[in-house]
Amino acid sequence: MIRMNNVYKTYSNGVKAINGISVNIKQGEFLYVVGPSGAGKSTFIKMMYREEKPTTGSINVNTISIESLRERDVPHFRRQIGVVFQNYRLLPKMTVYENVAFALEVIEEEPAVIEKRVMEVLKLVKLEHKAQSFPNELSGGEQQRIAIARAIVNNPKVVIADEPTGNLDMNTSWEIMDIFKEINEQGATVIMATHNADIVNTIRHRVIAIEGGKIVRDEAEGGYGYED
Ligand code: ADP
Ligand code: ADP
Repeated sequence: MIRMNNVYKTYSNGVKAINGISVNIKQGEFLYVVGPSGAGKSTFIKMMYREEKPTTGSINVNTISIESLRERDVPHFRRQIGVVFQNYRLLPKMTVYENVAFALEVIEEEPAVIEKRVMEVLKLVKLEHKAQSFPNELSGGEQQRIAIARAIVNNPKVVIADEPTGNLDMNTSWEIMDIFKEINEQGATVIMATHNADIVNTIRHRVIAIEGGKIVRDEAEGGYGYED
């Protein structure tokens, strides 16, 4: 479902961020991406949702060829992928409900369908009671749960998270992992870049380690493998 073949990425300033990566990720997998800072983890996952384009090589996501995707087809493609960031990136002037509903309003879904689906995902992240709150009235963990609700409201087949627990304490991080577990059990592929050794070592999944823009380890149920 996600396939990279001999991918290289050099940024316009000459930095060679990805140096020959080939990988296959199957529908329904849960994958951790680990490695030192600057190793290329963010670049690797940004290419999966076409935030960055490969310089050479091919990338297929849900049978769509990313490198040949036309600019005007990018928004439609992105809607098939849920993305979660370390810093949540909620819209501060919109309520929780509006933040989550937004993605469905853009595609002109019917109001009754929107309301049903938004309340469904808010229930999944256990924040139905915060629907009318604003992001700044929520804790970091709650904001991240809303960001996850927003990411999955379209029922994406793939959910990509870049250090989703990076700003959260351990208790809150475990709660976030429960939500990703649920999403994965409902059939979505989950790809998560992380520096959280406890999580990787406790909730075992496939681990890809990237160093210097290359995959140096790819293990089913692997460990974190770094000291930091
Ligand atoms: P990681 O997520 O593992 O920390 P990144 O993919 O963010 O690694 O970065 C890989 C390398 O590419 C680093 O040297 C970083 O400074 C560089 N880099 C990342 N984004 C850009 C960019 N937009 N322009 C230029 N260089 C970048
Ligand atoms: P994060 O994923 O931590 O929110 P980014 O993906 O934006 O941050 O950046 C990851 C790394 O890439 C950082 O080390 C950052 O300094 C570097 N980077 C980002 N954008 C650029 C850029 N335009 N030029 C050089 N390095 C960059």
